This record gives sequence, structure tokens and C-alpha cells, in this order.
Amino acid sequence: MEKKEYPPKHMGSMMGPVHASAFENALKQFNAAARVMNLSDDQVAMIKQPRRITEVRLPIRMDDGRIENFVGYRVQHSIARGPAKGGIRFHPDVTVDEVKALAFWMTFKCSVVNIPMGGGKGGVIVDPSKLSRGELERLARRYMAEMIDLFGPDRDVPAPDVNTGPMIMGWMMDTYSMHHGGDYIPGVITGKPLEIGGSLGRDKATAQGMVFCVREAAQKLGIFLNKATVAIQGFGNAGSFAASLLHEDGCKIVAISDVGGGFFNREKGIDPAQAIEYVKKNRSLKGFEKVADVKCYDDPMKVLEESVDVLIPAALENQITEANAERIKPKIIAECANGPCTFEADAILTENKVFLIPDILCNAGGVTVSYLEWVQNRMGYYWPIERVQEDLERMMVKAFDDVYETSLKYKVNMRIAAFIVAIERVSKASELRGLYA
Ligand code: NAD
Repeated sequence: MEKKEYPPKHMGSMMGPVHASAFENALKQFNAAARVMNLSDDQVAMIKQPRRITEVRLPIRMDDGRIENFVGYRVQHSIARGPAKGGIRFHPDVTVDEVKALAFWMTFKCSVVNIPMGGGKGGVIVDPSKLSRGELERLARRYMAEMIDLFGPDRDVPAPDVNTGPMIMGWMMDTYSMHHGGDYIPGVITGKPLEIGGSLGRDKATAQGMVFCVREAAQKLGIFLNKATVAIQGFGNAGSFAASLLHEDGCKIVAISDVGGGFFNREKGIDPAQAIEYVKKNRSLKGFEKVADVKCYDDPMKVLEESVDVLIPAALENQITEANAERIKPKIIAECANGPCTFEADAILTENKVFLIPDILCNAGGVTVSYLEWVQNRMGYYWPIERVQEDLERMMVKAFDDVYETSLKYKVNMRIAAFIVAIERVSKASELRGLYA
């Protein structure tokens, strides 16, 4: 593999704003667990760095006739336990550092829930809201075509992430199939529309998995969910389903936010159905206060500081940091987003007795149902929703228990415990395959 300089000089102004390194944050989490486990230097070196980083230029013919060059990445962190698995993000702030971190977390996420897959992630530096549907389709197909040899049902199986969804997965599956003689190969990608090999339950899987974890945590802490208050940052796939599922469980959703702003109603709560309908029509929550009985925060980050039982970061990385962690004191933080808390913030939250359900456990419902989708694709036999839900619940509850027990055994917080569970499995698989040879 050709060595690259990161971040590449040519990207210039296409780079998003400089923010804390997500990969460094991920490594700090890993190192803390590795220290507790007494891993050897060789094991640490073998497991923590990605096995392959690919960067491609994606020239796209725009509707006005111009050619615009986008930059895309695919990082395969580990294939020790199975094909690489992880979503593709379309966002203006994508960097290779971020994609590396997300691929890294995928390795350990798949391991925590014990599905036979490794870790990967992809990204394109683009603001998709500025593209027409045709431009978006050409970009999605070009991304898959440029890296076609990396992907495959036994190699690397992507999925949706921020700003990508079933429609884009369908286009990518079609492109892959066309390049393989026009066949139908649904097992190359998950999160597809139901009509072309998607699984029932995939749309709400991430939030559903989080709810199973929150139920377990609430039970351990003696919190009654039907009386609990909830605040959610991010109101996309993960955040909006989180709101409606917890609302169905009787929780009061007191605050929500997205790129359009932050909104609260501490007394009566917010109706998730109304917010979802609003976002469908308006693309974001901007202006929600004009139609709903809610107040608008001056600073949408304040949503994280609401005094609630359950706080759900469901947007992007590095939201809870040393700068605001001291003011964030819910009983439970359920990380739907990947990497929303920095390593330094973790220490403050642990000190303040916040029970944090870490991302690699809490949001693993998405990849778990992706795995079930992949299994169904390979069998050509599709399950009813009840079967999917049952499997998801069993796997999430088992993962939660494994991590909780490990946290008690080693007297560490849930994040470090999740890494210990995950690293043990990846390390054992690497050893058995002889990947250290
Ligand atoms: P999405 O694109 O559907 O939604 C992202 C949401 O975050 C949008 O509501 C957006 O407006 C909001 N947002 C973006 N920047 C924000 C900011 N600065 N402040 C407040 N809100 C902001 O994406 P998604 O699939 O819901 O993913 C959200 C997070 O969950 C990501 O970290 C993703 O990696 C993680 N995740 C998603 C899945 C999944 O299956 N969708 C699975 C695992 C993890």
C-alpha cells in the first residue's frame, strides 16, 4: 500500500475546522484498557494501528457541466475476527484522522457484541445538502467503483453513517454488482432498502440497541424509565428513533437539538412525532419553536447540560470535553454517537458518578442488525421483525452484562471495561490466526 501524507496537502481549504484528534482520543481509551490487561508491547502494536488506509480522488460531473473533485477514504482497521465492517460518512468535516478513529471503534464494537466481523469505516469530504440527487448518486457510485477491490461480502462490508442512508446503500450495492458481471450481490453492503435485501428493524436498530442498554443500566441504578427525563443531542437516524422509542417507554423527552438549534420544554416535554414530522418537511429543527410548545436555547450545546436522568449524545465526536464535562451531570449518558466524550471528559464524568454506556457498546445495535442483514442476504431467506428484535435484544443484553461484569471485576468504568472485553477477543483471534507471524 502506497504511503500517504496525512492530512494531504492538496486538500487545503476542503479540510473542515481543526478539532481534537478523534484517533488520539480512541488510542487513549485503548491504552487505558491495555494497561489494565497487561498486554505485551507486540500485542498492542499489532492491534491498535489500522491495517489499510485508502484515499481516492472522486471527480464528479456536476449538473452545471463543471467537474468537481471530492476526496474519499476507506480505512480497514482489523479483519482479525471477520470482514471489515463500518459505515460511510458524507460530511464536510471528514478527515482521515476521523475515519481512522471510527474504523478503530468498529473493530472493538463488533467484538463487544461478539459478531464475526472486523472494523472499517469510510468517508467523503462533502456537504451533501449542496448536491442534487443526480450529483449525489454519481458521487456514491464513484466512491464504490474507485475502491471496488477493497469491498466484498467476505472482505469489507460498508453501511450507512452520518448523511448516508438506504438510498445511497442501494446505489452502491448496484455499482458493486454491475462491476461483478451485473449480478445481484446484496451481501456487499448493509442498511439497504427493504426491497433490495435490507433487513426489517435496521432503520431503528441503533436506537433500539441503545434502549436495551439503557433499560439494563436503569435497572442496576434503580431508575424507573417510565418516570425518567431525557435530553438528546442530534436528531437524525439515531437521535430521532431514540426519542420515539424512549417516549414509547414512558420517558419524558425534555430537550432535543440538531444543526438547526436546540429546544426544550422541561414541564410538558416534547412530542417526538411532531419533531420528526417537522424535520421531514424542513430538513432540520430550525424554526421548531414557531410551531411547537418549546423554547429555543441561545446555545444549542446547552442541551448537554440539562438536568436529566438520561442524556443521549447522538450527533458527532468530541462534544463532551474538559471544557463542559463538569457541568454535565445526568444519571446515565448513553452514547449513540461515536466518540462524543473525550478521554479527559470521561475522567470527570466518572468522578461525578455519571453512569456512562460507551459508544462501542451503546450504539452497537446498528452494526448488530447490519450483521443480521448480511446473514439473511447470504441465506437468501428473510426473517420477520420479531426474529430480528429477539436476536438484537439477546445480543445487546449479553454484551451489556459482559461489560458490566468486567467493570466490577477490574474496578474500572464501563468504557474501559468494554475495551477489555473487546480487546481480549480481537487479541485471541489474531493469535489463533497467526496474525502476529
Ligand atoms: P444522521 O446524519 O442521521 O444525523 C446526525 C444528526 O446530528 C442530525 O440531526 C444533525 O443535524 C445533527 N448534528 C450534526 N452536527 C450537530 C451539532 N453540532 N449539534 C447538534 N446536532 C448536530 O446520522 P446518524 O446516523 O443519526 O448518526 C449520528 C451519530 O450516531 C454519529 O456519531 C454516528 O457515527 C453514530 N452512529 C449511527 C449509527 C446508525 O446506524 N445510524 C450507528 C452507530 C453509530
